Amino acid sequence: PITIFWFRRDLRLHDNAALYHALKSGNPVLPVFLFDTDILGKLDDKRDRRVEFIHQALQELQAQLTQMGSTLVVKRGSAAACWEGLTQHYNVAEVYTNHDYEPAAIRRDKAIGEWLNARGIAFYTYKDQCIFEKSEVLSGAGTPYTVFTPYSRKWKETLNSFYLKPYPTEAYFQHFYKTSPLPLPSLAEIGFEAVGQPFPQKTVRDELVKNYKERRDTPSIQGTSRLSVHLRFGTISIRELARHTKDLSETFLNELIWRDFYMQILWHFPHVGEGKAFRADYDRIEWRNDEAQFKQWCEGRTGYPIVDAGMRELNATGFMHNRVRMVVASFLTKHLLIDWRWGEAYFAQKLLDFDLSANNGGWQWASGSGTDAAPYFRIFNPTSQTQKFDPQLVYIKKWVPELNSFDYPKPIVDHAAARERCLATYQKALKQ
Ligand code: FAD
Repeated sequence: PITIFWFRRDLRLHDNAALYHALKSGNPVLPVFLFDTDILGKLDDKRDRRVEFIHQALQELQAQLTQMGSTLVVKRGSAAACWEGLTQHYNVAEVYTNHDYEPAAIRRDKAIGEWLNARGIAFYTYKDQCIFEKSEVLSGAGTPYTVFTPYSRKWKETLNSFYLKPYPTEAYFQHFYKTSPLPLPSLAEIGFEAVGQPFPQKTVRDELVKNYKERRDTPSIQGTSRLSVHLRFGTISIRELARHTKDLSETFLNELIWRDFYMQILWHFPHVGEGKAFRADYDRIEWRNDEAQFKQWCEGRTGYPIVDAGMRELNATGFMHNRVRMVVASFLTKHLLIDWRWGEAYFAQKLLDFDLSANNGGWQWASGSGTDAAPYFRIFNPTSQTQKFDPQLVYIKKWVPELNSFDYPKPIVDHAAARERCLATYQKALKQ
């Protein structure tokens, strides 16, 4: 009999919780990755760089496993069909995988777990993606936190070296299933094409983390780590990153805590991940949902340079600086009165680091409907945001080179009028 380790958002061999337990199971361990056609089928863009990122990560894993005389097995199909195939082909005793907190993934794992159990195959799952999950950080009253600051205080109080300890998988690598390497499907075989642009690096310099507090809000420089895509797909370990950076910058650690915060929000309040406002009364807002203006926003043609620069950065690279994400999200929901779910969906399509919990958290924060939102009457002014965070227009001119020419569009809404309209619309919805 063999043990299968199922890779998902944890595409690394070192410091991987479920892999560690699999390697200690006593059976030879065969690692698998499934290109789930239920997920791939939702991606319209055949040049989606996230698939390319995963594919590259799998190639690296395959090279490492081959060196150890083992292999990665990659299958394509629905999760159910893939598991049917795997259990027919191998004598599988146990399956190990790491937790995923998204509603669709929870349903999938429940179904697969039951299906395996019904065939006498054990299904074991572990925390790996975050430092604290589910109900590990609760208020004194035993309820989940819905406000970040008290959550982060409790998170820090609860933290000790145990939670940051690496899982020393290396000590058990000899337990991988021995076989000659199986070929990986090419990107084309999975139905995608490579774009070939480089991905952000996997490492962060101590210097950057030490200066993070002062430099993180300036979009024209690289003052942030750009590790988000690696955290998203688990090509780096969150424990290792937190261990390494926690004493270098408290501000940086807080960002990692925001990540845990939104993951536990999604876990405790799964309705937020299924199209509902965290605060139900915000679902009464009468959005204008002007499709032409939505298109102008998507394409970076609103006539507000900071908004347009952000959207063009996103479209060109799959990344947008956090400060600018906040500005464009506020502009869409408040200035244009377009439903935050439209913006959320657009980001979900475009962001290399797209993560349901963080993206939803960010959008609901910006629209005011979220857990930890600023009061709705605080509306970002794109002009003052520019003065504060890009006063020399360095970031803006990089993405909007035609800024001072006749080609650049006039603002599609007037700031003061849009602000009044937003206040009136929000007041109407929230007063009922
Ligand atoms: P750094 O500033 O170096 O931060 C380090 C890490 O902390 C990040 O890689 C990320 O994993 C985590 N982090 C930082 N800020 C947040 C945050 N506010 N919430 C949760 N985790 C955070 N982040 C995503 O990872 N995926 C998303 O889909 C996403 N969508 C967003 C949508 C909106 C509207 C907003 C306002 C923010 C969103 N963020 C999202 C959060 C944040 O903008 C990105 O994590 C950050 O810009 C990534 O760049 P970095 O790796 O250089 O971050």
